[in-house]
Amino acid sequence: MKPQDISAVVQFHGHFCPGLAIGVRAAELALAEIGPHAADEEVVAIVETDMCGVDAIQFVTGCTFGKGNLIHLDYGKNAFTFIRRSDGKAIRLMMRPQSRGESNTEHREPTSSIQSGEASPEEHKRFQELFQQRGQAILEMPLNQLFEVQAVEPSIPAKARVRESIQCEACGEIVMETRIRLLGGRKLCIPCFEAGERRLSIE
Ligand SMILES: [Zn+2]
Ligand SMILES: [Zn+2]
Repeated sequence: MKPQDISAVVQFHGHFCPGLAIGVRAAELALAEIGPHAADEEVVAIVETDMCGVDAIQFVTGCTFGKGNLIHLDYGKNAFTFIRRSDGKAIRLMMRPQSRGESNTEHREPTSSIQSGEASPEEHKRFQELFQQRGQAILEMPLNQLFEVQAVEPSIPAKARVRESIQCEACGEIVMETRIRLLGGRKLCIPCFEAGERRLSIE
């Protein structure tokens, strides 16, 4: 991807980081294999993580939550599936474990001191440098070294249908019917249901 395109992604996300770089590369591969995503909802992206990289995928491919062609599966994996609706071509990109560079312990150690709040300004600086380098290395890595590409069956989770709206009996807010929970016969939204459950477990 051209440097000016990457800087647009960075602007959208707010900072440059290794996670964003992963998303940039996944989007790059998707554009090459699945094609441009100009037509609305022609391409569906299924992401198995909700980390930084998803912002790059949204920005570059145009698949978004609002259009319903960006689907999050909460599996905590750096895996991204792209499906072209017109012919059902589907690929899943899985980040290769070797590409994470875990042998680099220097990258880990500043993290623990930074997390515990004991890092010196030098350690912070060093960590930032390594963080940036790591992102840059991901941008420059050959795509086949970064991702394993699998051809998969095109399986798109069912599109959200228009549902009935129901008023929560505790807070009065309007909720999609599929998100209503029953507690002691009352129809509640999820936060009210969870608050009610907590109260029950205390009593
Ligand atoms: Zn980030
Ligand atoms: Zn409520």
